[in-house]
Amino acid sequence: MNFPDLHRHLGGATHPRILWGWIEKHGRETKTAARLRERFPDYAAFSFFFNRPFHDLADYLTVHHLVEELQAEELTYFTHRAVRGAAVFEALDYLELRFNPYKRTPAGLPEAERLALMPEAAQQVIRAAQTEFPIQTAFILCMDRGFSPTLNRQIIALAEQLPDVVAVDLAGPYQPGGPTLDQWVELYAEAQARGLHTTAHMAESDPTDIHPTLFPYLERIGHGIQIALHRPELLPELAERGICLEVCPTTYLRTNTLPDLAELRPVFERCTIAGVPISIATDNPALHGEAGKLVNEYEKLVRAEAIHFNDILTHAAVGYQHAFKKG
Ligand SMILES: [Zn+2]
Repeated sequence: MNFPDLHRHLGGATHPRILWGWIEKHGRETKTAARLRERFPDYAAFSFFFNRPFHDLADYLTVHHLVEELQAEELTYFTHRAVRGAAVFEALDYLELRFNPYKRTPAGLPEAERLALMPEAAQQVIRAAQTEFPIQTAFILCMDRGFSPTLNRQIIALAEQLPDVVAVDLAGPYQPGGPTLDQWVELYAEAQARGLHTTAHMAESDPTDIHPTLFPYLERIGHGIQIALHRPELLPELAERGICLEVCPTTYLRTNTLPDLAELRPVFERCTIAGVPISIATDNPALHGEAGKLVNEYEKLVRAEAIHFNDILTHAAVGYQHAFKKG
């Protein structure tokens, strides 16, 4: 059986072994590799940084900072390996890979220079995803909670220009300085007016991170589990709008959002009753060890009795139905 994965970050898609191999090979050639060789004496220490217990979502996201900086050194190499690995080791035949194109430019440069490099960085990722293995890949560009509205608008404009980019997302750690809710509404309205599909990280680990004002502008929600757990009265609206939740089970364990996946059972039950479609996804498989493969996400949900075995077919089908295609 093949599966679709609609929610996977480029920064969480490269196995630490591949990253470490690159660090060892280029340890004397680049500043980033040299610094990481100094910080981590060996692979055991490096992989522990990925596999250690995290305190919360913010701690979990610190791994992204390290990986983004490293991936910016050789985007093609890392992207190609992430995509072909998904096809061969995970039986994925459809993958939506998301990344923030600005964060794939060298961190030390001034903003204007990074902006000028941003289109080429995004195109490198897209080109590198072409593989001889049977997998179709589409791309989502992530806007960031900490970026100015102007910078986020540049990401929307770039998404419109690139044929393989199908959508925009709202991601990144919670931090001051980013757009207000009204400004997010404007940004999403603009994205839709430019013909882009839309998703946003929301209601992942924080029950107060629920913003119905954005619902009219979203086709999918990244996570959204807190809506089903704490604001189930909003589920009929999601169903009416046809909004699909991208549920990534292992993430909730790794971020200490849930102690056990059995707690996702009411999420699936309430969404099924209300008619809210759920697609199962991986988020950041490289941070989840062997457990991070998509089939393992399904298996863990069945073992925790959050879903029944036969529901696997339904949720896989939802993934194909709600896949973003450029219209
Ligand atoms: Zn995510």
